[in-house]
Amino acid sequence: MQPPSAEERRDDLVELYREASGCVLCPLHESRTRVVFGAGNADADLMFVGEAPGMNEDLQGLPFVGRAGKLLDQLLGEVGFARGDVFITNVLLCRPPGNRDPQPDEIDTCKPYLHRKIELIQPKVICTLGNFATKLITRSNRGISGVHGSPQVHELGGRTVRVYPLYHPAAALRSTGTLEELRADFARLPALLTEPAPLPIGAVAPMAAVAAAQPEPPQIGLFE
Ligand code: URA
Repeated sequence: MQPPSAEERRDDLVELYREASGCVLCPLHESRTRVVFGAGNADADLMFVGEAPGMNEDLQGLPFVGRAGKLLDQLLGEVGFARGDVFITNVLLCRPPGNRDPQPDEIDTCKPYLHRKIELIQPKVICTLGNFATKLITRSNRGISGVHGSPQVHELGGRTVRVYPLYHPAAALRSTGTLEELRADFARLPALLTEPAPLPIGAVAPMAAVAAAQPEPPQIGLFE
């Protein structure tokens, strides 16, 4: 069977958006103003996953439109991207009241929407912003300060994807040291996007690649 075309995947994403817009699967639907599905290029190579909508996002129905969003736009611009080049979304579709942390049951309930978005957009690189997105996508409890800036390879949405954990821009707004680390991690993004697609996890590398990676064996004389 043919893999779905970019147009078919986009149509399915629009359908998912319609479904998500009326989601009542967890109590957050009672306090939200708008569902924040995510926005940007439906066929983006680069996807960003934040935590959850805040007050401005909840009012506008768009991700990262407040101060953290302005910083994200600036950092993207510094490495040659505009918002429309990438897809930006969150772990949660709806704002937790008072911007409290997402709860484990809310994350679990919302998770299938995020995985379906990844499956339909087929990004090459997913940047997880902060602890919640990183722990969810990497299926690990390792915190962001230990893993930021080091690409990982994960099986997501039926494909092998590079996951690049980054500090959350809101954390960078609170600390200039964190901002500089985030900026340095962003600087490595363009190169990361040009890397060949990672091999499926567990796949055996082609022999030529294996041979190229081996050091030359020492010459053994046939006749001593
Ligand atoms: N913080 C997030 O994690 N997501 C947003 O959309 C806005 C702020």
